[in-house]
Amino acid sequence: MFKTMLKVEHIGIAVKNLAQSNELFAKLLNTEPYKQEEVQSEHVITSFFKVGETKIELLEATHESSTIAKFIEKKGEGIHHIAYEVADIQQEMERLKNEGFVLLNEQPKHGADNKLVCFLHPKSTNGVLVELCQEIR
Ligand code: ZN
Repeated sequence: MFKTMLKVEHIGIAVKNLAQSNELFAKLLNTEPYKQEEVQSEHVITSFFKVGETKIELLEATHESSTIAKFIEKKGEGIHHIAYEVADIQQEMERLKNEGFVLLNEQPKHGADNKLVCFLHPKSTNGVLVELCQEIR
């Protein structure tokens, strides 16, 4: 069968202070972040580490209205989302919607790291915020 979910692309971790967490994760993973990027539409600044095939994305809020700021306020720092790379984001959004999952955006959005992204509501996914992402080709 054709696989529509390709791999765990990255794990997103909400942090209070990106500079401090960059140092912490550089020690933990024994590698420097390869990229830092601000996503203005989401009011976050992100940095990325590579661990084999998978990436770790650290996210710090740049504004109090950011979902990351709200997440940290409610739950503290920690794992924020799991991102799956999909072959075709439109098709996968359609499939998951038909399966009864709640999409947080009706159209794919531009995310960090040159990706089209869509989020699924954690209420429909056992409490884990799920991100679908597809490389922009
Ligand atoms: Zn992400």
